[in-house]
Amino acid sequence: MKNGLEAMFESAYLSGSSASYLEELYEQYLEDPQSVDSDWRVKFDEFAKNADTKDVSHSDIREHFRQIGLNRQKIAFTQGGGSSVADPKQVKVLHLIESYRARGHHHANIDPLGLWKHPYPTNLSLESFELSEADLDTKFHVGNLAGPDQQTLKEILQRLKETYSNTIGAEFLHINDLTERRWIQEKLEEANSSHKFREETRKKILEGLTAAEGLEKYLGSKFPGAKRFSLEGGDSLIPMMRDMINQSGINGAKEVVIGMAHRGRLNVLVNVMGKNPQVLFDEFAGKNAVVENGSSGDVKYHMGYSNDVETEGGPVHLALAFNPSHLEIVSPVVLGSVRARQERRNDKECDQVIPVLIHGDSAVTGQGVVMETFNMSQARGFYVGGSIHIVINNQVGFTTSKLHDTRSTAYCTDVAKMVEAPVFHVNGDDPEAVLYVTRLALEFRKKFKKDVVIDLVCYRRHGHNEADEPNATQPLMYQKIKKHPTPRKIYEDRLIDNKVLSADDAKKMLDDYRDLLDTGKSVVRNRIENHKREFNVDWSPFLNQTWQSPADTGLSESKFKELSERICHYPKDLPLQSRVKKLMGERKKMAKGEVKMDWGFAETMAYASLLDQGFEVRLCGQDSGRGTFFHRHAVLHDQDDAEVYIPLQHIKDDQPQFTVIDSVLSEEAVLAFEYGYSTNEPNSMVIWEAQFGDFANGAQVVIDQFISSGEQKWGRLSGLSLFLPHGYEGQGPEHSSARLERFLQLSAEHNIQVVVPSTPAQAFHMIRRQMIRPLRKPLVVMTPKSLLRHKLAVSTVDELTKGQFQNAIDEIDSLDKNKVIRIVMCSGKVYYDLLEKRREQELNNVAIIRIEQLYPFPHEEVKEIMAQYKKAKEFVWCQEEPQNQGAWYCSRHNLDEAVPNGSKVDYAGREASAAPAVGYASIHNEQQAKLVKDALGIK
Ligand code: AMP
Repeated sequence: MKNGLEAMFESAYLSGSSASYLEELYEQYLEDPQSVDSDWRVKFDEFAKNADTKDVSHSDIREHFRQIGLNRQKIAFTQGGGSSVADPKQVKVLHLIESYRARGHHHANIDPLGLWKHPYPTNLSLESFELSEADLDTKFHVGNLAGPDQQTLKEILQRLKETYSNTIGAEFLHINDLTERRWIQEKLEEANSSHKFREETRKKILEGLTAAEGLEKYLGSKFPGAKRFSLEGGDSLIPMMRDMINQSGINGAKEVVIGMAHRGRLNVLVNVMGKNPQVLFDEFAGKNAVVENGSSGDVKYHMGYSNDVETEGGPVHLALAFNPSHLEIVSPVVLGSVRARQERRNDKECDQVIPVLIHGDSAVTGQGVVMETFNMSQARGFYVGGSIHIVINNQVGFTTSKLHDTRSTAYCTDVAKMVEAPVFHVNGDDPEAVLYVTRLALEFRKKFKKDVVIDLVCYRRHGHNEADEPNATQPLMYQKIKKHPTPRKIYEDRLIDNKVLSADDAKKMLDDYRDLLDTGKSVVRNRIENHKREFNVDWSPFLNQTWQSPADTGLSESKFKELSERICHYPKDLPLQSRVKKLMGERKKMAKGEVKMDWGFAETMAYASLLDQGFEVRLCGQDSGRGTFFHRHAVLHDQDDAEVYIPLQHIKDDQPQFTVIDSVLSEEAVLAFEYGYSTNEPNSMVIWEAQFGDFANGAQVVIDQFISSGEQKWGRLSGLSLFLPHGYEGQGPEHSSARLERFLQLSAEHNIQVVVPSTPAQAFHMIRRQMIRPLRKPLVVMTPKSLLRHKLAVSTVDELTKGQFQNAIDEIDSLDKNKVIRIVMCSGKVYYDLLEKRREQELNNVAIIRIEQLYPFPHEEVKEIMAQYKKAKEFVWCQEEPQNQGAWYCSRHNLDEAVPNGSKVDYAGREASAAPAVGYASIHNEQQAKLVKDALGIK
């Protein structure tokens, strides 16, 4: 007869439960008995109370456990006469150990001010485990706790407190992967909070703190009251970042890309990135007014910076991303840039380019883009091998600091648990603990390729900015802060106590830093001047170009033939879904010129030709592989085994990368990611596609703050294209409009291109022009829906091989121009409604002109077209959108300029409306018929 425990494991084992599952379940039970299923709980309880081993020898059971993989160290036995009995106290001790691992952080000393308390602290007293001081000297088996197999309860407790409830509060038991958990657990317990840094490193830490404090004091005295969003209170960030960069270099990193908001940014710029402090002082004094290539510039605490530094592992390039005031939005931008850099380096292990995202405590918990960014972290199209997140947790957001005002979670970092990222809360006044967790985080990322979070718990010495009075809203906090010594002072005293340096040495360090600031040179000593780095991108061909720069977008006939065959080719034995098979068959006919080509064919040809010419293509969006409207089919799905074949990845040997991504269902973070990618890769056609165009407003921050103004504010070019399905087809308010008017309203200084192509050939040339023209400006395209399959919206081979993108298209029917008295101007799908009606009614005195590019408005082309219609007296702008939307108000001045002096342009379109479209198809049809008649002058 077997004992109960053995039978239990055996039956579970036979029923398919893995040993590691049992082990994990048992750990869970030890941590919280209520958290496991009641059947298991009863069994584990039984085991704890009376493990009956009468008829099985102790060694047999041990061997059995060993075989089923259960970590026998977890289960302690008391010895005796060939049998063993589990000691209930032993189990309590193991429970205590697990509880510290899981909840030790509730009691950790992570807040320098001592104000923060975990809202739901677990009771970790001995009594709560039915242990007492009387047990302190008893030896227990410790399971897999670091140190000897058996330790006294006192030793166990000391290790647990030092590891889990000292100045680091580690959260990692939410991670399901046992290997990751074990790894963190072993590292932490082995270190046992006694992080032994060499003297040299400790001095460097003090140097970093000296720089952090020194700069803020200097700025505070030179420019009193000027906004600088001081780092003071979170000073440990500086030695932390410096060490992280050095360690990254040692671990093989070549680039570190950083995103951060305004708090502490000037400090990072000068003390980490190596920006010359004199340049910063000049900015404070208002001297540096204009940025390179830009026209508006930006405030100093939004500015980015690039530099190279020497580390113990070799040179590392540093890039701090430009960012707006909109907190957290820069994170996905940084990740996009990192992905582009990793791809350029063929850095498949993601070890060469490291993303560092610095957050604020209120924003990291309050802003939805953080969650979106975490969600992207392991998704194929956005993977960068994990990010290092640092939260500058100064426990207050502007004037809001009460827990239940700022968030509904215990920690500001709880969102990170959704991707099972480990979180290390660390006391900002203990810079050695800060350095320790930073190195641990880097190591974790390198090993497991996942996100990891460091919650740098600190405070804000001044108000939100230096002109703010924090006592008005945070009186108790600021009474504490006033009396609290600076991180530098605390650490200086510690090093003096430990005899690492003398008080004079410490003072000299401070004086030296001040002197360095006065020299007007960079304070970052390992900065490398004029470093020629590998994989640098040359942006010079794209600088100082105009939107009229020429672009030969035609294709030779032989090239057309070659590429069109490639895009139609797929393995003979690939079973396709019947509609897709038919479509590929049609494409073959289009390739031969047997039928006219549709949108999907022309678009695919554009990508093929760009790839053939050496440009990469990255098409990312909501259902982009197939296309929302079943028109693209860039990805062919094998109907038998669900494998995929992507013809555009088989254009030629050694072709550039073609990437098509069905994106996570986010607009904000995904568009920000694509923007970041595009600002780092001018030779890639980067496209973000919305499922329906109006969804772009979920990413309005990216459009307003980056895409439309990044070049003007920061001199950063981007050739990102936005494909936004747009058109009034009776689908209701939400699926009709990509809000063309918003993009036109943002248009100025030739910042973006707003295009509404009406034929497949136009789409072809537009896509090619975006890369071939040496101009990198965002391209906003109102892409079609019904035109994808419209009988008139088709193109010929000639139009692709001989043509080019036409910013405006003249009337296509052979009307007698001298008889034309009315000219209708329009963009997009309504053109075909107008054309059909005009033909049906034989209105040969009405010409229809298409404006294919609404911004920059093609004045010259339109004027040339207009000049041919000498008798024209009536001019109309026709649009499908309501009058307050679409192009009418934003482009009216351009239309007025296009018509002869003294003429006026009339409006034909829907009446002004709050919603973009009506919800009823019948009303939609009535409106559409009326606006077409109005435009053509039909009574
Ligand atoms: P980074 O690798 O981002 O540090 O960029 C290195 C340098 O390349 C910058 O200092 C700029 O001179 C230039 N650069 C990078 N990105 C852009 C861009 N999007 N537009 C124009 N110049 C850029």
